[in-house]
Amino acid sequence: MVESTKIKELKGIGEKTEKLFHKIGIDTVGDLIRYYPRGYDVYEEAVPVSEVEEGRVMTVTGAIYGRVQVGGSPRMQVTTLQVKDITGTLRVIWFRMPFLRNTLAAGGAITVRGRIVRRRDGLVMEHPEMFYPPAKYEEKLHTLQPVYGLTAGLTNNAVVKAMRQAFESLNLSREMLPEEIRFKYGLAEYNYALRGIHFPEDKEVFYHARNRLVFEEFLEFILAVRKLKEGSGKLRNEYVMASCPQLERFIGELPFTLTGAQKKVWEEIAEDLSSDTVMSRLVQGDVGSGKTIVAVLALMTAALNGYQGAMMAPTEVLARQHYDSLTRLFEEHGLPIKTVLLTGSMTAKEKRRAYDRIECGLAKIIVGTHALIQGAVQYDNLALVITDEQHRFGVKQRETFAQKGGAPHVLVMSATPIPRTLAIILYGDLDISVIDELPANRLPIKNCVVDTGYRKTAYTFMKKQIAEGRQCYVICPMVEESENLEVENVTDYAAALQAELGEMVVVDYLHGKMRQKEKDAIMDRFSRRESHVLVSTTVIEVGIDVPNATVMLIENAERFGLAQLHQLRGRVGRGGHQSYCIFMSGSKAKETRERLEILNQTNDGFKIASEDLRLRGPGDLFGIRQSGLMNFKIADVYQDAKILKQANEAADWLLNTDHEWLKKLPKYEEPSSVII
Ligand code: ADP
Ligand code: MG
Repeated sequence: MVESTKIKELKGIGEKTEKLFHKIGIDTVGDLIRYYPRGYDVYEEAVPVSEVEEGRVMTVTGAIYGRVQVGGSPRMQVTTLQVKDITGTLRVIWFRMPFLRNTLAAGGAITVRGRIVRRRDGLVMEHPEMFYPPAKYEEKLHTLQPVYGLTAGLTNNAVVKAMRQAFESLNLSREMLPEEIRFKYGLAEYNYALRGIHFPEDKEVFYHARNRLVFEEFLEFILAVRKLKEGSGKLRNEYVMASCPQLERFIGELPFTLTGAQKKVWEEIAEDLSSDTVMSRLVQGDVGSGKTIVAVLALMTAALNGYQGAMMAPTEVLARQHYDSLTRLFEEHGLPIKTVLLTGSMTAKEKRRAYDRIECGLAKIIVGTHALIQGAVQYDNLALVITDEQHRFGVKQRETFAQKGGAPHVLVMSATPIPRTLAIILYGDLDISVIDELPANRLPIKNCVVDTGYRKTAYTFMKKQIAEGRQCYVICPMVEESENLEVENVTDYAAALQAELGEMVVVDYLHGKMRQKEKDAIMDRFSRRESHVLVSTTVIEVGIDVPNATVMLIENAERFGLAQLHQLRGRVGRGGHQSYCIFMSGSKAKETRERLEILNQTNDGFKIASEDLRLRGPGDLFGIRQSGLMNFKIADVYQDAKILKQANEAADWLLNTDHEWLKKLPKYEEPSSVII
């Protein structure tokens, strides 16, 4: 068996399962072994019944007390069992498994492991894994079981089985890193690391394995960035742009004055555009700092100088929003700048029309998603490319975008709060500008961290805000089990909320599985204030700007990374009204509270990220990943900052010694980015 062997050669994988694997991007054995676990289940020691905590997965051992009962409705039968130890009795329930009644005898000892949730009549353990008799649990105690990202129909067990087989029969022999580097940084061998990331015997092995893979991922990334820098160097500016009076007038007519930081950054950009060399610049600024208007000024400058400028956003919703606000702005200010939208979900006919306008040069500003860099688009004289929310894209995409023109100016914007030292490594080919000031009219967002008992109060509060003309976002509880439950979850939640708020309030919902047209329509309704509440998954995380929205309620806040929560919170507090963010946590655990409290104390994205890291400690990798920041498969910019610096040092050394290994370096391939 080799890496290119198709996975259907593995035992137990038929045509149907093969298709399911294909859905998660696995076609060959090589794809499979590089499909890293999303997390691990740690089988911890059992706790006494009196010590179970809401919201956590816990293990309890006790005697089966009384009879096993089956109730509920015929469609949703609920099997209930009481487990008793000397500290108390815990109710344990399973859905749709009535047959359990026949296998569990009163008086017998059992170990159950599952999530503790609060129901109307107290804490229960839901749908646990059971070990009967408890000796079976001993075998698993303290082990780490990989948990993989799945798709409907594919079980974790199926992936584990395939993985084990692959490791048994695959002859692994790839070692990417030169020995000097492996020794210097104490890195595990590749084969060991790969096996260790899937099946770590203990935490020690896991850390060792992960470190190695993170290092390698960073190193490849850094080398790709360096190459980019070498390639673009300081190219001659073929599109020298002069400042224009219309632009000055436009700035003067804006409903607000630019902040000092915006002015400073705009000056830096304007200087780049008129200089001898091509611009490659990163604009960093926290959520709500007003990056868009700076990008708009750059796009206008390109257009007014007779060139084309294009801006790419990571989601269709965001691209549409940018397009709408640009066209509105130009209309209001009487500027005849033709702007065109180009996204993947447009019909073939709509796309054709857009292509024509772009190709003949009629379109001066082009806004869109990935569609901007896909095959068929031909630009007329593209002089400026901007990527919004760059941390959602990869280096490759940025590069492809730049290659669409003949060495255009490149501007990338990101809200990712990373320290300068790291930014210099990750965006090594770019100059960096920082918008480090929020518009003056902003009232700081008021935050609170509450538990689910506060939900009713939160709804009442939302109702009051809506009565005052404001709007609210609700981020739905997360579903862990399967992506497909997500849809059901959002719709159910929205329906329940609608019933709660009454029919005068319009509740809409948004989720990743909706067709683009539907999403756009829902977003439109919300920004035109035709709906009051938008229930959604994290689709709305990036960029959405509805200044009239003042409440953000986040369910299951404990399951998000703080940086992501901060981005979500950034959807409110964007206008002159007082805004509120309610972090609702399903867990009463002390650490969770402490983490969320950080958000309560500061609105400063950078402080949040570093505090989060400090609290969790660099060793706590089983916690939540700061997901969504940069496009890495396993590495995490915050968590692994130290490894990032080491990899950077290693890259220096490799390049300085012109190491022969560089020639063997496979082409850098980044994970496909998350596009919703
Ligand atoms: P982000 O940096 O998160 O992309 P946006 O560019 O979307 O932020 O700006 C957030 C909001 O602030 C928008 O509604 C925008 O019109 C407004 N805004 C931008 N600059 C200023 C300013 N100088 N004064 C007041 N409001 C501003
Ligand atoms: Mg933005």
